[in-house]
Amino acid sequence: MTQTPPTQLIDRFGRTVDYLRISITDRCDFRCLYCMAEDMTFLPRAQVLTLEELYILAQAFAELGVKKIRITGGEPLVRKGALGLLQNIGRIESLTELVITTNGSQLETMAASLKDAGVKRINISLDTLDADKFKAITRTGDLHQVLRGIQAAKVAGFERIKINAVILKDRNHQEVNDLVQFAVDNGIDISFIEEMPLGIVSQHDRSEAYYSSALIKADLAQKFVLVATPEKTGGPSNYFNVAGTQSRVGFISPHSENFCSTCNRVRLTVEGRLLLCLGNEHSVDLKQVLRTHPGDMARLKQAIVDAMLIKPEKHEFNINEQPVILRYMSMTGG
Ligand code: SAM
Ligand code: SF4
Repeated sequence: MTQTPPTQLIDRFGRTVDYLRISITDRCDFRCLYCMAEDMTFLPRAQVLTLEELYILAQAFAELGVKKIRITGGEPLVRKGALGLLQNIGRIESLTELVITTNGSQLETMAASLKDAGVKRINISLDTLDADKFKAITRTGDLHQVLRGIQAAKVAGFERIKINAVILKDRNHQEVNDLVQFAVDNGIDISFIEEMPLGIVSQHDRSEAYYSSALIKADLAQKFVLVATPEKTGGPSNYFNVAGTQSRVGFISPHSENFCSTCNRVRLTVEGRLLLCLGNEHSVDLKQVLRTHPGDMARLKQAIVDAMLIKPEKHEFNINEQPVILRYMSMTGG
């Protein structure tokens, strides 16, 4: 008797996985101090999935019921051929959402083409509005280039633009109100992210730099009225409307609020490692399956289905300990 091939990804805890994040490069033009070491060694080309392999994987996941794909990195838009890949993925009919996370450095020239490729929503990282602080946090970035990129994204007319800001005590925590005001003035959304202990960082102590979502909310309450919304975007963000404006504020709080019970996502690294959880090392080497059995879609899909059996129940971040997760966010695909 032949078995019906699976069309859905369901893990041991009954969670349906319909969201895939793909890191299409580990490289980046910035070196944000919470994300990368200053002198990063990047992967040799042979270890990195080709654009074609990335597309085949996107297709396999879509055939297994994945509806949303986020393209991330590293900085996804510095990979040569990124636009073509996005165009191809954008044509996969069963996908309902193709979204991207970027540092904004390439958006001035690429925003319109991304919109044409079918990218619906875009997350742009912006931790500060002060050019010197921006340089200090990103080590190599230019604030004005990113601000021009944000304007280009607005002109291109994405359904939704969201700023992502990682808040660190004494580095940018004083700016949370200004960042929300920037979002309000531009009619866009913003999410505040608690720093996660991924990889070893040298320039700050993560427990000292911890600035909780609760503290941010208290700071914002001095200037804005935040109205809780039941809205979920299938992710860990809790959203609030900023009263009297078009903008929403989200909080991603891996330390202060555990959101694992509703987790619907998995991540693919650019080396082809399928990570079942951001905060654990459980993974399956899909590049090996792809390269050992080229063209065997059934085998690839079975490997993905089987991987669901090792998706952990939850993450165990602890900012007071040395990280157990030695991979950086740029490898993981944030
Ligand atoms: N280069 C793109 C960017 O910066 O948006 C995409 C990749 S980046 C790894 C994705 C997101 O992860 C960014 O918003 C970044 O601020 C966030 N991030 C990086 N390292 C982090 C960490 N250790 N804890 C929390 N967020 C982190
Ligand atoms: Fe690059 Fe994004 Fe990491 Fe910053 S957060 S170093 S922009 S990958």
